[in-house]
Amino acid sequence: MKTIVFYYSGTGNSLWSARLLAERLDEAIVRPMKGADALAAGDAEAVGFVFPVHIWGVPGPVAAFVEKLSLRPDAYLFALAVNAGQVARTLVQLREMLARRGLTLAAGFDIVLPSNYIPWGGPGPLERRQARIDAARVKIAAAAERIAARATGPVETGPLWQRVVFTAMYKLSFGQVHKMDKDFWCDERCDGCGVCARVCPAGNIEMKKDRPAWRHRCEQCLACIQWCPRQAIQFGRKTPGYERYHHPEVTLRDMLAAGSGER
Ligand code: SF4
Ligand code: SF4
Repeated sequence: MKTIVFYYSGTGNSLWSARLLAERLDEAIVRPMKGADALAAGDAEAVGFVFPVHIWGVPGPVAAFVEKLSLRPDAYLFALAVNAGQVARTLVQLREMLARRGLTLAAGFDIVLPSNYIPWGGPGPLERRQARIDAARVKIAAAAERIAARATGPVETGPLWQRVVFTAMYKLSFGQVHKMDKDFWCDERCDGCGVCARVCPAGNIEMKKDRPAWRHRCEQCLACIQWCPRQAIQFGRKTPGYERYHHPEVTLRDMLAAGSGER
């Protein structure tokens, strides 16, 4: 196989981006950043990482995956950092992680899609969401052309103020992320279906007496709250009034298949 596009996704934005990119590359396959077999990319000529920006940087599970991944030393490496307008220094951070292993991130693209960070509000008006999706589609097509041409160059970043302020906030917040699930709770609409536990990429939800219990190893991907079929999960006090979001072209079935390692 020529190209592997690895993705990490909570609400489908990154899964959609990875699929779209792979469709435009020759002999490309898409794999979740999960499972022992995913760690062997040794034969691939080109390897991509598609992931959401979390707390203005590389999510912990993505960093751990990149550390362990087995790669050809001459593999062409590329990345899409999916975010809602705050890519900050994320792709530079990934480039530095790879450089510590003697590897080069040849190309990194900032992909803006609707926000899924429901603790701060809903995804915004439908027209704005669709405009972002349309613009991302165009940008991913352009990125695919550059990747196919094995282009190299500086990775994309946010403006200087983002790189300074958000990188400081990332460093302050990173160690607290696992415990941020203390603000999740579920209301009376919960019917004990267990979708939240199955969709959680961190195995952080345990069903106790047909109700979810969060185990303080959260990655703040928001999959549980966004995919609950009954909108029964809340975070703090404001989310009962916020619209839920997942990428409109990604289904719960897609997400569950990714979690189980199916493709
Ligand atoms: S997904 Fe929602 S309804 Fe299903 S168990 Fe979890 S909280 Fe309850
Ligand atoms: S508990 Fe929810 S927010 Fe935390 S990692 Fe699991 S799915 Fe994501």
